[in-house]
Amino acid sequence: MKPTVTTTEEPKQVCDLCGSARHQIFATRGRGGSKLTTVICEDCGMVYTNPRPSERENSKFYHTSYWGAYKHQTVPDERFFERRLPKIRPMLTQLRPYLKPGGRVLEIGCSVGALLWSMKEVVGSTGQFTGIEPHEGHAQFAREKKGLDVHNGLLEEVSHKLKPASFDLVVMNHVLEHTISPTTTLATVKKLLKPRGHFVVEVPNVEAPGSRLSHFFHVAHHYSFSPRTLQRLAQKAGFSVKRVDSLDGDLPGTRLNAVFEKLAATEASVTTRFIRDDANERAAALHRYERWYWLTAASFRKKITHWQRQRM
Ligand SMILES: [Zn+2]
Repeated sequence: MKPTVTTTEEPKQVCDLCGSARHQIFATRGRGGSKLTTVICEDCGMVYTNPRPSERENSKFYHTSYWGAYKHQTVPDERFFERRLPKIRPMLTQLRPYLKPGGRVLEIGCSVGALLWSMKEVVGSTGQFTGIEPHEGHAQFAREKKGLDVHNGLLEEVSHKLKPASFDLVVMNHVLEHTISPTTTLATVKKLLKPRGHFVVEVPNVEAPGSRLSHFFHVAHHYSFSPRTLQRLAQKAGFSVKRVDSLDGDLPGTRLNAVFEKLAATEASVTTRFIRDDANERAAALHRYERWYWLTAASFRKKITHWQRQRM
């Protein structure tokens, strides 16, 4: 069964990052040959799906279809949880410097709670860990089997239940690219963070997709970030950018991992100059990557690395 989010062919939305309607169409098919139009913004270089599903369609998809239709995991079990642990390990390594005793941590899109549970293991009982997960079955597993405090819903549906300025750390691990508006998501994250609180986010890197492009573009991923577009998004939301790094996944540079800090009210926001992504250069780079992927037998190397990482 294919995921139920569908899009019509005519691009009709503006860029979430810069508000421009000018874009070039890069691809009209996504993973599995699905009808999916991917465009590149002519003004900021953001790569995004256009049109995106409506907020209602998106909410329905994550509440009911995502884990069942796409990941074949409607009713999670202990084995599924165990299989998640090697997948969250690279992010856990990045999070360690920000895990402090007594800290309040929020993970948005926590699934069965593998990362949340692992962070708790690092800090011990002094920390407070909260999760948000739209899939009821996964949220329930995290609550009942792992004893985690997990709200069932999308961020925009449950954020009113959380106290503003109450978290030291907010985490999104391969979740931001699934949101309808990353701009709105970052504004909410900022509201929930304490002053000087950190937002650690990881997304796929459009500079190194790590697969053939027909597989990379996916109905559930509405945005494909580069280091520049991710940095620009954070600055737009008023975060201070601590770092934006391209880290290795199964292939070099496939993970875009960033740390942003919420400034205290008294601190002036520092406007760092960012370099604009160019739409034509981005399109050319994607085609170059596709050629490199085939010429270097990357999919074979990827399988070996993936196998090695699972065994680590
Ligand atoms: Zn744009």
